[in-house]
Formats: sequence, C-alpha cells, structure tokens
Amino acid sequence: MDVLNLVLLVFEACLYFGLLVCLLHWRARLGIGVMMTVLGVMHFLETYLAARFYVMTPFGMASPGSILFYSGKLVMILMIYIREDAATVRQLIYGLLGGNTICLLFAFVLRLHTGLGLAPGAMPDTDFLDQMGVLMVWGTALLYIESIGVILLYEALGRWMGRSPAPRLWLASVLALIFDQIGFYAVLRLLYDAPISVFWASLTGKCFFAFVYAVLAAFYFRFFASGAATAKRFPADVFADLTYRERYDALLARSGVDTLTGVKNRGRLEEVGPGLIQHHMETSAALSLLIADVDHFKQINDRFGHLQGDAVLRAIAEALKSGLRNDVDQLFRFGGEEFLILMPGIGHDAALRAAERLRLRVEAQVTAGGAPVSVSIGVASAPAGGDTLRALIDTADQGLYRAKANGRNQVDGVPRTA
Ligand code: GH3
Ligand code: MG
Ligand code: MG
Repeated sequence: MDVLNLVLLVFEACLYFGLLVCLLHWRARLGIGVMMTVLGVMHFLETYLAARFYVMTPFGMASPGSILFYSGKLVMILMIYIREDAATVRQLIYGLLGGNTICLLFAFVLRLHTGLGLAPGAMPDTDFLDQMGVLMVWGTALLYIESIGVILLYEALGRWMGRSPAPRLWLASVLALIFDQIGFYAVLRLLYDAPISVFWASLTGKCFFAFVYAVLAAFYFRFFASGAATAKRFPADVFADLTYRERYDALLARSGVDTLTGVKNRGRLEEVGPGLIQHHMETSAALSLLIADVDHFKQINDRFGHLQGDAVLRAIAEALKSGLRNDVDQLFRFGGEEFLILMPGIGHDAALRAAERLRLRVEAQVTAGGAPVSVSIGVASAPAGGDTLRALIDTADQGLYRAKANGRNQVDGVPRTA
C-alpha cells in the first residue's frame, strides 16, 4: 500500500513538473502569466491537501500538499528564475504573498456568516477556515522567506558547485525545505501537539520529491534548454531585484536626491546649476566646476558585484563630501560613477588644489576588496573655462579625458603631486 502510494506520488510529481515546465518553456508564446496563474491555483490545492489529505508513504504519513506541491512550488520558483530573472519571479513571490493575505482576510470575514449546509451531512466546513488562520499566516511568512532564500542559495551555491543547474537546484531546495519543515513543524507541535514522526515523514518526503524534481530538471536542461542556466549573478544583486529596490530609488530620485549616495542628483543640478553660474557671471565672482570619475569602476563591479560597487560609490560620495565646504560647495551625482562639484568663489588655481586634495582623500579613504579606489578629476573655472553649465561641463570633461589618457588617478591630466 505504501509503495503504491509512492508510485502514484512519483507519477503525480512527473505530471506536475511536466505540465508546468511546458508552460514555462512556451512562455514566449503564451506569456509567463499563464504559468504563474496555474501555480497560484495549484497553491490553493496544496493548502487544502496539507490541511485535509494525508496518505501513508514509505516515509510515514504525509500530505501530497506538502511533500509534492510545496516542494514543487519552490522548484518552480527556481525554474522561473533560471529561465527568466529575478524581476520576473518576484511577481510570483509577491503574488503568492498578496494572495495568501487576501485569502486570510476573506476567511476571517466569511466566519461572520451563519453558514447553511447544502444538504444534511454537507455542512459548511468552518474548521478549514479556522485552520487557514494561524497556519496560513505562518506558512505565508515562511514561504516568502524561502522563495527569496532558495534563489539566493541557488546563486550562492553556484560559487562552489559549478554552474550546472540541477544539483544546485536540489541542494538549494533541500536547504529551504529543511528550514520550512523546522518552522512549520514548530507551529504544528505548539498548536496540535503533532508527533515528531510527522516532522520526519514530511521532511524526508519533501527532500525525496525535491530530488525527483531535480532529476526531471536535469533532463529538461540537458535536452530542451541547454545553456539556459549558466549566467552568473551575484546574490546581493538578485536580492536587490527581489525586493523591488529600483522602485524605491525612483521615488527618491523625484525629490532631487540620489538614492544611492544621498547627494544631490542630476535633476537637481539642472535646476540649480544654470542660475548659480549666471549669478556668478553677473557679479564677476569666481566659480569652478569639477567632474570626478571613478577609475576602472567596471572592474570593481565585475569582480565584487554591483552591490559592492554601489558601496564604493557611497564611500566616494562620503569622502568627497567630507572634503568640501559645508553649505557652499555642492556635490551632485552626475552619472553612474561620476560626481560633479560646484565650487562658488573658487578660481582655477584654488580649484586645482581642491581637486587634488579630493583625489588624495578618495585614494586614502576608499577601498574595494582591500585595494585603494581612485578617481580622475577634470576642472573648469568660469569664465575662461566657459560661462554656462554646458560649457563648463565640456571643459571639465576635456580635463577628465586628459587625466584618464595620462594614466588616471590625477587631476586635469597634470601628473600627481603625491
Ligand atoms: P575608466 O577608468 O575609464 O573610467 O573605467 P571605468 O570602468 O570606470 O569606465 P566606464 O565609464 O566604462 O564604466 C562605468 C561603469 O559604471 C559601467 C557601469 O556598469 C557602472 N555603473 C554605472 N552606474 C552604476 C551604479 O549605480 N552602481 C554600480 N555598481 N555601477 C554602476
Ligand atoms: Mg564614467
Ligand atoms: Mg570610470
């Protein structure tokens, strides 16, 4: 009997995987929304089975809802991530989070009814609604953590397991499922005094089916999508995508502040720059403009990942800011790894000296992977270097270009003083 159940479950796993992977494979024709919707519907079946439907397996008593469909869902999250990217799979993750929360809300409201049975013996099952309460809140929180966790683990494992997807997919799922089983069993134990045998049966079952899915995935990648899973992505970058970081950034950008570094952004420069320069021209006051560009920044990103690159940009902004006159000089993030500084009242010689001090400051304060990070700086001073924002930027750019061409980590193409 146990073995018959196992054979049936393996058949169901193959069917589940096969059908969903077909939808994933033909997503260009169907749209990824079809597969995600199917997963959402399956999620409901899974919840119901986990609450109500248990069968005897060689591992012990377990529900197909948790050993088959729950582990399947984590594997499918990974499959979507592998074939698409973090920005796509996060829609499913947040959809499940939102869907579960809304279900809970309705379960709560529905309990206010006095339900009628369709017939005697078919009375409304309020037990199920009740069970959805605590278990589903907890399950939803765990699912959210695991969905993100399983993707990060998958990427992290790539560093020492090689790029081949199936073994990574299995190990990442198993680790996430162990975490899940510990978290979920703790609550089952607390609420229903569930015996420890349930813990082991479910855990073994989940890991076994994660293995079945990994074998199927290996087959899929070998014969239908070879080369699809070799891209290397940094876990930290993936995490930023999974948590909608860029939306938050866009919100802050509209307020004139650069979200990454906290200095003023380019939009703000366009707002205040021209007026400030015009005012200085009219009063014949000196004014200088500096552009600092990070040296070999692309290599920093490539070696340490985008987020480490971002940390370097923050450190550079900090170093530059600390070397400027408070409330007088203005620091802007001009481009990706370029900063622009407006220095009112400063003529060309003083600006060159100030730029050199800033360069030394960055070199002394900022590191990436233990090695110092440097900037090259171009300097332009009005009116000789231009009397508008555009013209000054142009002149500073030429100085910056000379500095890069002459070997970087210098000001205006003039050899270093230190
Ligand atoms: P060079 O010394 O000639 O300036 O070399 P470089 O590698 O710094 O030159 P390049 O201007 O080609 O590279 C700039 C890189 O900056 C490319 C881009 O990926 C990266 N970048 C731009 N904006 C950001 C950002 O906000 N964060 C991170 N981490 N990287 C960024
Ligand atoms: Mg640049
Ligand atoms: Mg650069």
